[in-house]
Amino acid sequence: MKYIPEQEISKLLASDRQYIWHPYSAMHSDIPVYPVISAQGVRIRLADGRELIDGMSSWWCAVHGYNHPVLNKAILDQLLNMSHVMFGGLTHSPAVGLAEKLIEITPDPLVAIFFSDSGSVAVEVAMKMAIQYWNARSLPNKQRLVSLRSGYHGDTFGAMSVCDPVNGMHSLFSDVLAKQYFIDSPGCRFGAECEARHINPVRELLEKNHQKIAAVILEPIVQGAGGMLFYSADYLCQIREICDQFQVLLIADEIATGFGRTGKLFACEHADISPDIMCIGKAMTGGYMSMAATLATEEISQTIDSHEPGVFMHGPTFMANPLACAVSIASISLLRDTAWSARVSKISTILESRLSICRSLDHVEDVRVLGAIGVIELKTAVDMASITARFVEQGVWVRPFGKLVYLMPPYIIGESDLINLCDVVCQIVSEL
Ligand SMILES: *Cc1c(COP(=O)(O)O)cnc(C)c1O
Repeated sequence: MKYIPEQEISKLLASDRQYIWHPYSAMHSDIPVYPVISAQGVRIRLADGRELIDGMSSWWCAVHGYNHPVLNKAILDQLLNMSHVMFGGLTHSPAVGLAEKLIEITPDPLVAIFFSDSGSVAVEVAMKMAIQYWNARSLPNKQRLVSLRSGYHGDTFGAMSVCDPVNGMHSLFSDVLAKQYFIDSPGCRFGAECEARHINPVRELLEKNHQKIAAVILEPIVQGAGGMLFYSADYLCQIREICDQFQVLLIADEIATGFGRTGKLFACEHADISPDIMCIGKAMTGGYMSMAATLATEEISQTIDSHEPGVFMHGPTFMANPLACAVSIASISLLRDTAWSARVSKISTILESRLSICRSLDHVEDVRVLGAIGVIELKTAVDMASITARFVEQGVWVRPFGKLVYLMPPYIIGESDLINLCDVVCQIVSEL
């Protein structure tokens, strides 16, 4: 593929800087953005012809890499049928096929699906479902949520209200956010047992306030954007028990962890529990389109249906978009056909062996690996722009935030690319 002449690149970047916001950015920012012209497999090709090995899967999404022939075909076939129809009063086989597949692969009690167009909306929907459920059960005071500190659940108002109240990027809006309950981020690491002192505050909070609490919402096992923390499966088991004991629903936000990233298809499986409501998104379409879903138990869907107003109060314009459904179906099949589990465990082994070198560095706080996620936690925050530029110079795409340099490559990454990626990361971290 030809690359773009330098003059055109400058024009494109000037317009970008003039007109467009990027995530959590200033409009006329001096922080560079890198123009991409194509992406193939695990490689992102920049407009100047350089190729970067992708260490991010475009934020958990592109698990099969880019420009995958099977996913391309699924979306093209669907495009020639219809790209979209409204979902009010109409239905189609991509939506039904995807629903059947999701019900098959998610924990058994989850049998009712609400499709939406982004993770944040899937969280909004989950929160509304929980509140509407208790209202239908004649417990209308159960309206508040309990969330973990260091959690991240999205950027819309409901989702913001359950993000970490201090580091959650949303403190500016605290006056207009719903007031929720927060408990400390789990003090027990993945692989460790959860002691009474870790879990007792949760029990006490629910015991005291359960009349007002609709649900606990959490990211199972891995707290992502709030700190890339891996916590004990035992903690999650105990949360499940406490929720049952005090008539509180459990919402698992699997938007980042779903579809194999942590080494299980869904992170709840580490604890062998099932939530009452589950949110999925990100990798669902293999990174092709924006789509998410909220799944619930039959008890929840039936209770909502059988009480005033007798319907669930939400309905996005692009609900169950056929292109997104079709590519999701193909992506889920592809996960199975490509033995995702073996691939993720191979990635895990290499991440562990290659990143562990950084453990001995004075300015490194911790190195941790779970599934296809590798995290180097530094003692101080990195300068994102300069470290990103160093990574690009060395031919890798890695985007750290705060004190965290982390990798979550596409599952299809080959051994030599992964080793190269890890070694570049360790080299650059060691030079900090
Ligand atoms: C990314 C993310 C969201 C928000 O998803 P969007 O598609 O960005 O709205 C919610 N919860 C978790 C755990 C996430 O990682």
